[in-house]
Amino acid sequence: MSDRLPAVAYRVPQVRALRTALPGPRSVALNARRMAAVAAGVGPSVPIFAADVDGGILVDVDGNSLIDLGSGIAVTGVGGSNAAVAQAIAEQANRFTHTCFMVTPYEGYVRVAEELAALTPGTHEKRSVLVNSGAEAVENAIKVARLATGRAAVVAFDHAYHGRTNLTMALTAKAMPYKAHFGPFAPEIYRMPMSYPFRDEPGITGAQAARRAIIQIEKQIGAGSVAALIVEPIQGEGGFIVPAPGFLPALADWATSNGAVFIADEVQTGFARTGTWFACEAEGVVPDILTLAKGIAGGMPLAAVTGRAELLDAVHAGGLGGTYSGNPVACAAAVATLRTMRELDLPARARMIEATVLPRLRALAHELDVIGDVRGRGAMLALEIVAPGTTEPAPDLTKAIAAEALTQGVVLLTCGTYGNVIRLLPPLVIGPELLDDGISVLEQILRQRSPGGSLRRRSDPVSV
Ligand code: PMP
Repeated sequence: MSDRLPAVAYRVPQVRALRTALPGPRSVALNARRMAAVAAGVGPSVPIFAADVDGGILVDVDGNSLIDLGSGIAVTGVGGSNAAVAQAIAEQANRFTHTCFMVTPYEGYVRVAEELAALTPGTHEKRSVLVNSGAEAVENAIKVARLATGRAAVVAFDHAYHGRTNLTMALTAKAMPYKAHFGPFAPEIYRMPMSYPFRDEPGITGAQAARRAIIQIEKQIGAGSVAALIVEPIQGEGGFIVPAPGFLPALADWATSNGAVFIADEVQTGFARTGTWFACEAEGVVPDILTLAKGIAGGMPLAAVTGRAELLDAVHAGGLGGTYSGNPVACAAAVATLRTMRELDLPARARMIEATVLPRLRALAHELDVIGDVRGRGAMLALEIVAPGTTEPAPDLTKAIAAEALTQGVVLLTCGTYGNVIRLLPPLVIGPELLDDGISVLEQILRQRSPGGSLRRRSDPVSV
């Protein structure tokens, strides 16, 4: 990767090696048991059962070593079994696994809150509440914003994903599979147009896209009724959509000027994923509240709402919390994860991943006209797959590419409102050879799957 970056120690050999066809016989047998016992709605996207995960390698139950380009959806930035995190978990579990912070508090929770105050953007006084999942963090951020402002309306954006609970389903944009037939949904949620450079009118700036949303907010809701704007700085499930520069700062400024709370949902983008600790730092945006999860605790279920002290402290005692919220084992994992991220300089590693992968994806996009767009930041990169030479989404081809990658031992995730985005979310500790191998597999599949190896006919639409 770079001689200047601290070395990562691996336990499992970091090489792709297939012993069986994929899925192998043990995974096939486990899948049969899964279907007989686990609700069909959970539907895993990869029919391969994990046995051991380390660095950038996922070993399955048949002894195949696959390259992990998904990190369990942007969670295991420090790797799936980081030694320091595992040790912190074991030590804490040997002392106590639970007391309920609201009954008998413990230092780990306070320590995580202190670390989040120091790490998140802005020098203002901050408070945090810890919870168990990204969706729960979003729920709590909205509760806080409504109580603190005395207003009800919440603005979310096209292509947003904020979770699967009732309130967060209402905030999430995509019907299938997240919302269809699960209503009725929570009221007072308003959806506004996003900045989506690849699909927007050509040339529209971030400030203009923000203006387009703000005019609708003012006309359809009324500025004085808005409790909060919630936005992912780079949209995750919606398709790794990077808004045009200026979009986020203009929305944040409008929120500040109009007494609304600006909530950055950094559940997917947070904790070094995009090359900075938090994605909104790229444009100097200081959110009033951040929702955080995924990368925070090396795979343990932990999430947080971190924000301005006057907002979080507006809530009466007992208004926030939960039995398991801020579990001590998860907090110990978070402290070790954050220390490891600093020691290994994972923001720099994310930038190195971008520097390595993005030029290759761009070069490929010039060659193949099934790649409509290349975008992302740090170790959150994506290809939007289209019918050759058009902007027409090609979800079947996208699915086929991910399925083919899997048979070659590369775990690739897809996403997007139109189901046509291949997203790359490698663990930030992945080594350069393994990353190179994974991207080479993807390149070769894309070349094979492009009709006639089709060369671009369009001028360069590739945005970042
Ligand atoms: N917000 C964002 C931006 C997310 O990406 C996700 C999960 N993909 C969530 C919220 C929900 O998090 P969880 O699945 O932990 O509830």
